[in-house]
Amino acid sequence: MRAGFTCDRCLQSLRLSVRAQVSNVRPGYVSGSRRKHHLASPIAGGLESRQKSRIQPKELQESSKRLTSSAARPRVQASSAGPSQHLNEARTLLKPNNLFHPFSKSPAHAIRQRAEFIKQNAFCPHPSHQQTRLPDSPHDPEARKDPHGALPPAHSHFECPDCGVPIYCSEEHWMDDFEAHLEVCETIRQINEDDHDLHSGRFFPEFSYPGPQDDNFVINMTNWDTFLYTREFEAINNDRSMRQVTRMLTYPITVGSVLHELSPYGIKKGGRLTVEGLKSMAALRYTLHPPRTGEGTDIAGLRLKAPPVRIFILGARAESSLPRDVWLQLTHMFPRAIIQLIFIGPEAMANRDSEFPLPERTPANPFGGIVEDRLGPQMKITTYVDYFHTMHQAQYFHPYDPYFDCFMLFHPGLGHPASSFEWAETLPQLLETKVPIICTGYTQWDMDRDIKWVHEKCAGEFDILLEPGENIFRSLRWDLNDLDPHDVSCGNWGIWAFRGKRYEATYKNE
Ligand SMILES: [Zn+2]
Ligand SMILES: [Zn+2]
Repeated sequence: MRAGFTCDRCLQSLRLSVRAQVSNVRPGYVSGSRRKHHLASPIAGGLESRQKSRIQPKELQESSKRLTSSAARPRVQASSAGPSQHLNEARTLLKPNNLFHPFSKSPAHAIRQRAEFIKQNAFCPHPSHQQTRLPDSPHDPEARKDPHGALPPAHSHFECPDCGVPIYCSEEHWMDDFEAHLEVCETIRQINEDDHDLHSGRFFPEFSYPGPQDDNFVINMTNWDTFLYTREFEAINNDRSMRQVTRMLTYPITVGSVLHELSPYGIKKGGRLTVEGLKSMAALRYTLHPPRTGEGTDIAGLRLKAPPVRIFILGARAESSLPRDVWLQLTHMFPRAIIQLIFIGPEAMANRDSEFPLPERTPANPFGGIVEDRLGPQMKITTYVDYFHTMHQAQYFHPYDPYFDCFMLFHPGLGHPASSFEWAETLPQLLETKVPIICTGYTQWDMDRDIKWVHEKCAGEFDILLEPGENIFRSLRWDLNDLDPHDVSCGNWGIWAFRGKRYEATYKNE
């Protein structure tokens, strides 16, 4: 059975390793371990043999040393197994009770690299150091530092033994600032375990997404649980799996939850949608939820279809590289609509190295868009590595229509000192289109800063469509900022929406 799922080359090395194991190991041991591990052992054994063949003996020794020393730490769930068995476990399958590892001693190469990156780029947050940059917010540990502090800035080299992330420059500073660190330590430890979970090699049933929605079931968007249940996801009974899957799904579902006719945001008291918001959403819902037309598969059943709804995702970064299955969830929420996702931004191709080089800029494709049109009849995704304002000035997307268009900005950092200048030109153009602009923020502070900036730049020229507040479909997983590990945030924490003001024509004598 194993052969059916394995490519020829792997199979060959598997056979070799099986033969080698059989000759080395006493038969009694093999049968014993089989009984214990049942299904997991053939897969684990296969992976282990493949990886072993690539590892140099010296590296192997080092990693076994590393693992034994980490086993000595009290925090790690030590087992009675010898070093070699430990090695096997770490190389193949991290168990749920063995997910915590200090970053620099992690069994996963990618995480060790990340530890190196943090050590080289992040600065110790202890208040006795000089300030390295302007503080982002009053909660930023940088705000506690004095520009003329006693000590020069120092990189984060000391790993907190409880959360395993390099944060302070030395053990003394970590102990001295322990009270401040304690506020985030538990959360960072959870991030550590969640990151190791992704590298654990376990099977991820939560990442198998359901297909089209059954006509007989209505989606309930009260919260994540009701949504996943009514969308017929495999039952997720584990908090960690829930965190992993919501981190991905937050992107399509956040957009969907605002646009959908069964949106949890309404105009009732406390529902956060404003009257202006209802007008805009009603227009889009008209296109997104067309009435049934008696469409069929033969010629007699052909019906005219409405044009696609264009969702412009501006300043796109990680969300553009999400698996397409995740984005297709959006079409399953709107089974009779056609949706065109347009990712725009200089970083829109981040993490998509396999799609390089970018298409040439031709008269037919003047901005070198990457088109993905084989995602089924309902969805098309186009990506442009450019600024929206450049394309807008070229009238590339004209005309805009409030019935068919909407802007989505995932944590744009409108008011962030490092990025607000990039948005300064875009904002008036977005307001001019009179199309809804949905924004999210990493934290309350991040979102409030964006709103304040929009008020400063364009006071009186826009209407709020959705009152700012926590996003019902935020990511339940927390993430680290590798440049500043004390900065913990989660994807799409908050949500709000606005739109350029529309002036209704009024008659004098009525
Ligand atoms: Zn320090
Ligand atoms: Zn800690």
